[in-house]
Amino acid sequence: MKKLTIFNWKMNPSSLREARTLAELTQNYAEKTKSNMELVIAAPFVYLENLKPKTKNSKLKIGAQNVFWENQGVYTGEVSPLMLKNMGVEYVIIGHSERRKHLGETDEMINKKVSAALKTGLKTVLCVGEDLKIRKRGPKAVKSFVKNQLKKDLKGIGNWKFKIENLVIAYEPVWAIGTGRACPPKDALEMIKFIKKLLTTNRKLQTTKVLYGGSVDSKNIEDFLQYKEIDGALVGGASLKPKEIKEIIKSL
Ligand code: PEP
Repeated sequence: MKKLTIFNWKMNPSSLREARTLAELTQNYAEKTKSNMELVIAAPFVYLENLKPKTKNSKLKIGAQNVFWENQGVYTGEVSPLMLKNMGVEYVIIGHSERRKHLGETDEMINKKVSAALKTGLKTVLCVGEDLKIRKRGPKAVKSFVKNQLKKDLKGIGNWKFKIENLVIAYEPVWAIGTGRACPPKDALEMIKFIKKLLTTNRKLQTTKVLYGGSVDSKNIEDFLQYKEIDGALVGGASLKPKEIKEIIKSL
């Protein structure tokens, strides 16, 4: 399967000029590589229109970091799946732990967002993962937590009409995000295998891609992507650093 790498810029950079520079640099490296991978920049909403790929076969795609669950209406400050779709945005990240933590996003909200995004035709990257407290309780507790998150976030999926390949799961242990302490690749592999097994109980989801995210950089990315079960990576901090961008894309 073609590996998928998503660069999550989070709330960066601070100006359109910097965003363009960073996107151009990333695009240039992406165009140079011969590897058959998919690369996405998940940028703040305000930059998306400007960062859209100029051609359909561009190696670099664009994504949003959040979306609302209705397509239109009296929801001040929100951005709808239809707005993203009509703008030509292909991907959206939903349920990132930073939104769960700082914006109070619940599994119920995330479930509505995933449903709306998929039904609108967006490639939807659902983030799940345990915090340090649960990690410390051991693998059984971690699996039970992630299973429960997936159950809640994908509730009703059997009745949704969407393109199966548009759903992507990102396993992102919260304790590994932005800490420089990536999950040991073997542990990530075990969790990703577990998630895939859970998904296959629904025949529709047998081919769903599952990515790893959490302090991925140029030095460790291959440790994760060497496994055929790990379908790609979600990269935060390192995706803002030119040297890292170059090395990461080289190793894809
Ligand atoms: C992320 O933003 O999802 C992420 C994994 O960040 P970082 O790579 O900085 O840990």
